Amino acid sequence: MTPHQLQQVIVRVADSVIAHEPELTALDQAIGDGDHGLNMRRGFEAVRAEAETAAAKPLPDALRAIGNRLVMTIGGASGPLYGTLAIALGKELAPDAANFSQALESAIGAVMTRGKSQPGQKTLIDVLLPVQQAIAAGGPDLARRLPSIAEDAAQATAPVRASRGRASFLGERSIGHVDPGARSTSLIVAAICEGWEP
Ligand code: ADP
Ligand code: MG
Repeated sequence: MTPHQLQQVIVRVADSVIAHEPELTALDQAIGDGDHGLNMRRGFEAVRAEAETAAAKPLPDALRAIGNRLVMTIGGASGPLYGTLAIALGKELAPDAANFSQALESAIGAVMTRGKSQPGQKTLIDVLLPVQQAIAAGGPDLARRLPSIAEDAAQATAPVRASRGRASFLGERSIGHVDPGARSTSLIVAAICEGWEP
């Protein structure tokens, strides 16, 4: 991937997150405190502003820079989690990204450690894991299949009762709503894959 292509991916992800602020806000109003849209917009506006500088670095360093920025700007529970994901991925990833699937697996492990979370608790983990598993399985047209895998996984959090994060305070009343963090993760996956040309 050239620096220009990496910059385009960063901008595409940021633009998608920013454009979906109202939807993320509405989801977090239903089962949280309503700040996920604003948190994510703040974080990705900061990342977007530094897209060119980040993209000039080797991919692992770019991911670490983005992760540090996300930790500093998103806030909430999701800031440290998205930040950990990008920083850990940057630490594990080989410069040619040949070990992407294993690096992502271990970065998701770092997020679960950080959030003391497991799959099935109605969080962003429930989108990250099926995406990682699909990448590990490989096969043709992966970039074309991943957005719907991520979106289906986000939708599949709706019938789950939350047992981590703010939504868990609602108990049974968290049932019937898509998890905001799962939705933002699916947006990020879709934006990365859209027009993917490594
Ligand atoms: P806050 O919950 O502090 O208001 P946000 O609204 O920005 O933070 O983010 C909420 C999202 O963060 C949730 O929808 C969920 O996906 C994710 N989340 C919260 N706590 C955890 C956790 N312990 N492990 C994994 N994900 C979590
Ligand atoms: Mg919130």
